[in-house]
Amino acid sequence: MLVKTAGLVLRETRIGEADKLLCVLSATEGKITVKARGALRKGSRTGAVTGLFAFSEMTLFKGASRYTLNEASPVELFFPLRERVESMALAAYVCEVLDVLSDADSGTAELLRLGLNTLYAISEQTAPEGLIKPAFELRAMALAGYAPAGCGCCAACGAEEELWFSPSEGEAFCRTHLPPTGGSHRLRGGAAEAMEYILSCDAKRIFSFRLGEEGLQSLQGVCENYLIQCLGRGFKTLEYYHKLQSATEF
Ligand SMILES: [Zn+2]
Repeated sequence: MLVKTAGLVLRETRIGEADKLLCVLSATEGKITVKARGALRKGSRTGAVTGLFAFSEMTLFKGASRYTLNEASPVELFFPLRERVESMALAAYVCEVLDVLSDADSGTAELLRLGLNTLYAISEQTAPEGLIKPAFELRAMALAGYAPAGCGCCAACGAEEELWFSPSEGEAFCRTHLPPTGGSHRLRGGAAEAMEYILSCDAKRIFSFRLGEEGLQSLQGVCENYLIQCLGRGFKTLEYYHKLQSATEF
């Protein structure tokens, strides 16, 4: 059976001499495995569209156990991001998170939209990467069913000053009511308001806010920590991104 769908390549694996196995987040079929025959052959029609981060309109043969790429025309290949090592590393992390979160069958269309908006922002540098990353992480967690219960005031008493975010509770607390579970991050410099904005704004506007350095650092700590705690795992691509960042600090 032939299926037409739009899809983003999250992972590519070489098989044999010239073929590739792709992990694709698609608009209508969820996350699928697609075999691309001859994609590695010189001058292949499908070479560019089967690369990591490529978003294309695809025509696929749907077999019993997997899909085979029939043809594809590129919609967005995010070329500019491929010119910067840090941008590539962040985009790879975004794809790894999408890969993990799209294992569930529901909500993959929204995840795809968030992924495309994020790759576009990284590629076109519409916002600093230090802002794109936490906004993506928090919104992705919300789409995957881990939306924090609240972050603007203490969950126990409603206090709005001096708040900490507890990743294990998914809520904010004042110093008095902060649970002793550890791993909490102080919400500073407008980070709490930024979190509320990221969780409630229109999908297209998630990177359209600005924060000072203190707020941004706080937001980065909270969102990364929250994602790792909720998913109970680390990410190789994230370690690599951090390694690159510490290397450029000198
Ligand atoms: Zn309190």
